[in-house]
Amino acid sequence: MSENKKINRREFITRSAKAAAGIAAASQLGNKLFAAPVIRNTKRDTKVFILGIDGMDPQLLHLFIKKGLMPNFKKFLSSNYYSNLRTTLPPQSPVAWASFISGANPGIHGIYDFVHRDPAQFIPFLSTSRTYSPENSIDIGSWSIPLKSGKVELLRKGPTFWSALEKHDIPVLLYKLPANYPVTEGKAKQISGLGTPDLLGTYGTFTMFTDNRTKDLENLSGGRVIHVQPQDHQYTCRLEGPNNPLNNKITASSIMFNVNRDPWKDTVKINIQGNDIILNKGEWTQWIPVKFKLLPLIAYVHGMVRFYVQNVHPYLRLYMSPINVDPKHPDSPLSNPHEYSQTLSQSLGRFYTQGFPEDTKALSHNIFSDDEFLVQSKSVLDERLEAFDYLLNRFNEGLFFFYFSSIDQNSHMLLRTMNPSHPLYDPNASPQVKNAVPDMYKAMDNVLGKTLAKMDNRSTLFILSDHGFSPFTREFNLSTWLVENGFTAVTDKNRYHKSIFFDYVDWQRTKAYVIGINSIYINLHGREMHGSVLPSERDKIVAEIIHKLRKVKDPQTGKRVIVDAYDTNEIYSGPQLNLAPDIVIGYDKGYRISDYSVLGKFPKEIFSNRNDKWSSDHCMHPDIVPGVFLCNREIRKNAPGLWDLAPSILDRFGFPAHPLMDGKSIFNK
Ligand SMILES: [Zn+2]
Repeated sequence: MSENKKINRREFITRSAKAAAGIAAASQLGNKLFAAPVIRNTKRDTKVFILGIDGMDPQLLHLFIKKGLMPNFKKFLSSNYYSNLRTTLPPQSPVAWASFISGANPGIHGIYDFVHRDPAQFIPFLSTSRTYSPENSIDIGSWSIPLKSGKVELLRKGPTFWSALEKHDIPVLLYKLPANYPVTEGKAKQISGLGTPDLLGTYGTFTMFTDNRTKDLENLSGGRVIHVQPQDHQYTCRLEGPNNPLNNKITASSIMFNVNRDPWKDTVKINIQGNDIILNKGEWTQWIPVKFKLLPLIAYVHGMVRFYVQNVHPYLRLYMSPINVDPKHPDSPLSNPHEYSQTLSQSLGRFYTQGFPEDTKALSHNIFSDDEFLVQSKSVLDERLEAFDYLLNRFNEGLFFFYFSSIDQNSHMLLRTMNPSHPLYDPNASPQVKNAVPDMYKAMDNVLGKTLAKMDNRSTLFILSDHGFSPFTREFNLSTWLVENGFTAVTDKNRYHKSIFFDYVDWQRTKAYVIGINSIYINLHGREMHGSVLPSERDKIVAEIIHKLRKVKDPQTGKRVIVDAYDTNEIYSGPQLNLAPDIVIGYDKGYRISDYSVLGKFPKEIFSNRNDKWSSDHCMHPDIVPGVFLCNREIRKNAPGLWDLAPSILDRFGFPAHPLMDGKSIFNK
């Protein structure tokens, strides 16, 4: 009987979704079930709304409220609960959102940093998922290709707040929840977010087609420059896609396309796989589907791109977005049920599927100006807001989670434009650029207004961010510091600065090394590929490093650099503790590790000025960058943390916390 009910219920949900999309009408069976709501306990909530706003900062929120930019937040705060939200150590988005999902510390969910390393082979990989080539089939691709026929493994472990809801047939929608790729199986409707790769298996690689040979187009990380030569104003371009096995040799699949330039006007015509698009200088295309042939007549991979004509005469600069997985033909596990991304894109049109769609790398490399970056990142927000309206209007019952990346990404890149004391402040920035961050906050105010309109007295609203923000103006080259303090040994003192990935490291004498933004690993014998430190020496070396790190001062300013560093054995607990780094570092305001130090490079100086436009950050100590938390219910727990929200969500529906959740419901003391 109960099994019967379950199937009917599931069917009903599917049917009502289809009806909403205008595809099918509810059957008689569906209508009958409509009269029997699943959530019968009248004391409990029927709707829980969660707005996940990455990077919303407490100080900025209150500043913009004070300035009158956020009337809905102002009104909401006047009669509801607000607190700073304690964030994880380290306060990196994948770690923080994994704690939100699991209601637990990293020792339970196993995500400690953006980047982890495989100790046995010493290979770095992005921490939340790993993609392997298909098993028992022709060897298509390398491990970086997100093919559905390959194996993509979600590395986040531990419980989720939605599994109990699924079990009780409570509808769940998770739109772009970070650290959830590939999406979990089950009844929850999901579109994956942060952690979802592009078609090349990266976090987003743009391409520039150009005959412009300037310095700024050399040595790009996160971008490709393809040099093309015009013949009578026509450019033949080769676009490389995912890897393709030919003759047992891995080569990239590719498609050819043409760009015709008007000899006199700043206009081009792009012809790509049957699509003809005419664009003027400064214009963007919509999403254009592209199809890569992996083996003749056997396998295709579907992607989509957007072009932007940056320049036409005297030379072409044609920017192309990272090749996103096409939600209309999802060849990777980015939605649940699998066809959900198709259903959505039939109503909404194609949308960005890569984890963080704002092209911060194009701005970091000065391929984009501030204004160009803003146009691109506003298009991401517009797309997201359309999806929000669509999904909110169709939501009737259960849990609604919706995620926004705009404040985080724009704060990283453009907060400097609001702050005259920031070294990268530009007094000549356009008004749009100077207002970019406040405008993103304003957009969230609208989102709150719309959400409130959908609520009734059996609705709960959580608004949260995973962390706030700090300026990032000075880089700490931790890798070099470890060398100069005798913890990482090198074979060639004169050349190790030229290292690409730990070249010249003398592993036999190395006690510790850095991989990741906040992590130090002891070179432990029996665990690390070249391990040389006996387990009995581990604690002593950890204590020594921490002792020295606490004393680090910036010689230029005399300021403390690190609030504190911790032995992970003392701060984390759980079955995934064996994956943890040995030391985690909480930087002080203004400081962070340099990009070079994160992955096996050793800059000459220990400190350097941050010259990249990615010049605000949150990989500091959690006390420096708390998030925000707002709720329409009475909260009884003091100083809530991100890990307390999963048990609190379950509490609203009348369910106990999962035994592995170490957070506590905020509705209890
Ligand atoms: Zn961020």
